[in-house]
Amino acid sequence: MQSHIEKTMDSAAVTDRQLEQINRYTRRALQKEEVFVFSLILCDNQIDRDGERFPRASLEVLAKLFLGKTGIFDHSPVSLNQSARIFDTQVEELPGQVEGEPCCQLRAWAYMVRTDKNKDLILEIDAGIKKEVSVGCAVAKITCSICGADWKKEPCSHQKGVRYGDKVCHHRLEEPTDAYEWSFVAVPAQKNAGVTKQACRPMDLEKLWQSRETISLTPQELRELESRYKALEEKAKAGEQYISRLRGEVVKLLAITRPEISPALAGEIAERLEPSQLDELQKSLSRAAAGKFPPAPQLCPMSCAEDGERENPFVI
Ligand SMILES: [Zn+2]
Repeated sequence: MQSHIEKTMDSAAVTDRQLEQINRYTRRALQKEEVFVFSLILCDNQIDRDGERFPRASLEVLAKLFLGKTGIFDHSPVSLNQSARIFDTQVEELPGQVEGEPCCQLRAWAYMVRTDKNKDLILEIDAGIKKEVSVGCAVAKITCSICGADWKKEPCSHQKGVRYGDKVCHHRLEEPTDAYEWSFVAVPAQKNAGVTKQACRPMDLEKLWQSRETISLTPQELRELESRYKALEEKAKAGEQYISRLRGEVVKLLAITRPEISPALAGEIAERLEPSQLDELQKSLSRAAAGKFPPAPQLCPMSCAEDGERENPFVI
């Protein structure tokens, strides 16, 4: 399995189309010179060291699932200036065949917003210092290549790596359901680039939670878990901020549209509502407030003054 940053491009090579794709994920439209774009190989359809492979159909689904996913560098906490986001993906065909289909790999294009803090990191990527990419995803089916049994439902007796007749058994990772945050891991210089496997091994959290025994995780799995946890934490924080703003907005709008409701009661109402209810109430109150205070018409002092019909704009 080859998962790595493959080649880099300088900002001059950022195309208009790429910038347009990038700006779908940004809060404000970025300029070419503000972004750094590079491409990376996320996974391929070869049988990996665990005796598993993604058929091409899975890569096609993963291509969509990885869009918009962020990656972090070398374990650093998720933060804007140390993360990259995938904005484009493509399944590329390579020479050769594997299990009756053309060899192919999933390439992704990611961008980083250039800042003072990530200058060195960008230089490093630009210089071609190879970093491995560790990615994780979940699949709905893990099927046996010999009999087609779905190991998620009912395992068969075939063993991965064992020959049955003229075929060696492997497992096909099918129907991906989710792709997770990815991370970069620096490869020590003396190591043969791209040899260490950082595969798209699905980590079945459900199974993990249900496990009653002591479990051990590989460093790679631990990293994946950590990266997922941190990403969730970030999302939770952002969610809380949003809800708190929404509550404030609802209290304010209640004061405008329903002055008879005391601020204390308004606060309590906002506090008790679910986020979706808050959202609905905020929208409806906004409409009510807009009806109560329609936008003031554009005044034309000259003509109105001539007609002698100028009204006091402060009288509603
Ligand atoms: Zn089987």
